[in-house]
Amino acid sequence: MTDTGIAHDLGPMDVAGRADRVRASAAEAECDALLITNLVNVRYLTGFTGSAGLAWLGPDELLLITDRRYAEQAESEAGQAGLDVRIEITNDAPKDLLAAAAASADRIGLEAASVSWADQRKYAEWLGAELVPTTGVVERCRQIKDDGEIGRMAKAAAIADAALGEVRPMLAGRPTEQEVALALDTAFRRLGAEKSAFTTIVAAGPNAALPHIRPTDRQIGPGELVIMDMGAVVDGYRSDMTRTVAVGEPDPEAQRVFDTVREAQQLGVEQIAAGAPISDVDKACRERIDADGWADAFVHGTGHGVGLDIHEQPWVRATATEPLEVGQVITVEPGVYLPGFCGARVEDTVVVTADGPRRLTHSPKTLAVA
Ligand code: ZN
Ligand code: ZN
Repeated sequence: MTDTGIAHDLGPMDVAGRADRVRASAAEAECDALLITNLVNVRYLTGFTGSAGLAWLGPDELLLITDRRYAEQAESEAGQAGLDVRIEITNDAPKDLLAAAAASADRIGLEAASVSWADQRKYAEWLGAELVPTTGVVERCRQIKDDGEIGRMAKAAAIADAALGEVRPMLAGRPTEQEVALALDTAFRRLGAEKSAFTTIVAAGPNAALPHIRPTDRQIGPGELVIMDMGAVVDGYRSDMTRTVAVGEPDPEAQRVFDTVREAQQLGVEQIAAGAPISDVDKACRERIDADGWADAFVHGTGHGVGLDIHEQPWVRATATEPLEVGQVITVEPGVYLPGFCGARVEDTVVVTADGPRRLTHSPKTLAVA
């Protein structure tokens, strides 16, 4: 990988401090131990990035179990994270390892969203103790990012900004959606991203009225609005940004759609303050769009948390009355979609700080492509 000069001091992450925070979160769910099978959560707790493994978090112990393919990697990644973790390597079912660990636990939390029916029956047979279905025990902790995590996301955002800056002028030649998406994905990799954070969306004209359409081989037409939704991954952490542009002069109604969405997005970001209800962000966006009569055309949530997953807690929506907290990283992404005609969405990744919102994505929000 070439070093492209997107200089970011990523800084250390406090991986070692996570186990105690997750223990506290497990205690709220009335569990004294947690069997962690969601691989993103395994990574969060242990630093281990392999594709097979599980973690056990007991009152006094963090245990990582994986197979021989990952023996060296598990040691090295846990070491880099500065962790006090016991690593067990086995190619057999970890029945005895888990049974021994569980001997001192009364109520063991399972991650309900990532345990299959078959696995639940297996764990019940192995562990003996009471199994409790839990939701979001680790995810609650993941919401609050430390400076090292935010540094990684800032770099992922800077890569997306630089990639879009490179690719924007190419739109003047009216390429296909797929050509634009490929150019963005290629630029992410060249600029130092591990990969794209999700399937890059490039949707023009009537396709832009479909919020999550995949790029097609359709050529971008003159004056059409083009939605580009993209993110990069740096050391597992993701960025998420949408910009809408027009190639040439847009239809006046499409221009009005874009102006409304851009204003709504700005108003939403301005609501971000530690202690303010998350729903305020959604309300500000929705009220601005309602004022122009497009309430029914804003067909998705206003935003979501971002981190090791592209969509994670907290959800930015009307029912999210809990307060915003310093260290959360959320998106604000209102959109208006008019079937058969056009669509517009504007999205930033934003950190909640003690001083208000801090945007990580900085690309200009102008319709003109160059
Ligand atoms: Zn997005
Ligand atoms: Zn998003």
